[in-house]
Amino acid sequence: MIRQRTLKSIVSATGVGLHGGRKVSLVLRPAAVDSGIVFHRVDLEPMVDLPVDPYAVCDTTMCSGLQKDGCKVGTVEHLMSALAGLGIDNLHVDIDAPEIPILDGSAGPFVFLLQSVGIEEQPAAKKFLRVKKRVEYREGDKWVALAPYDGFRLQFSIVFNHPAIESTSTLATVDLAEQSYVRDVARARTFGFMQDVEYMRGKGLALGGSLENAIVMDEYRVLNTEGLRYPDEFVRHKVLDAVGDLYLCGHPLLASYSAHKAGHALNNQLLRTLLADAEAWELVSFDETAAAPAAVSRQFALSALAFGG
Ligand SMILES: [Zn+2]
Repeated sequence: MIRQRTLKSIVSATGVGLHGGRKVSLVLRPAAVDSGIVFHRVDLEPMVDLPVDPYAVCDTTMCSGLQKDGCKVGTVEHLMSALAGLGIDNLHVDIDAPEIPILDGSAGPFVFLLQSVGIEEQPAAKKFLRVKKRVEYREGDKWVALAPYDGFRLQFSIVFNHPAIESTSTLATVDLAEQSYVRDVARARTFGFMQDVEYMRGKGLALGGSLENAIVMDEYRVLNTEGLRYPDEFVRHKVLDAVGDLYLCGHPLLASYSAHKAGHALNNQLLRTLLADAEAWELVSFDETAAAPAAVSRQFALSALAFGG
């Protein structure tokens, strides 16, 4: 059986919120079979629970957030990406602020945190969302699409009129049966431009942003002295974001995703387009591991989760 997963025990971390700039405490707790990923705003009285739900996604200009009853939790995409990458289905996420800490701007610290306590396989089959026909969503020259595929593959291309980005590969293809999420995707950091940071700060955003949690560029070059973590780190981060945004549907996908110049908003519109067409998808599980497509067995083999593995 390809099983559902949660954490072996509780783990916690603190960090800074990217937009509010405030210190945030994050606690990740194991959850029962079929409970999904649920965020809890423990700083509110009474506490507000925000289960992962593609129709609760809001505020997709800078990040992906969830909103319910006027309460929100922002910047969920890098944690969601780590959870998708490690195949974690069920988890309680307690935070005491309106956003998940940015940590180093990638999913790497979340992966490290989750792996530090270990992953528990649960006595129930994982439920995949299998895409049965191609769906797409377009806005001008930007587009995103999902097509049937017996595994999970992502292809992303970006266009930025900036010398530091144009000097790298702006097209990335990642097949999670062939490449390791932990090694090949998780460490790619978010990126931004100095002039945008100044503009955003003027609007009270990105108050926690720094060279510690993003690749920052001036008009010509990358300002981080350590350089890039992957030769194509910019577009690779877009793949990381897409893994997280798509996991907001609540299930791992069996699909091939492709995107051009897209972001959080288009990823969410794509999920809504998919889910609105009852003939375009179905939920499937594999009670016998041997019955699962080979790509799925490879992607969800526990040995694939090792750092550097
Ligand atoms: Zn991101």
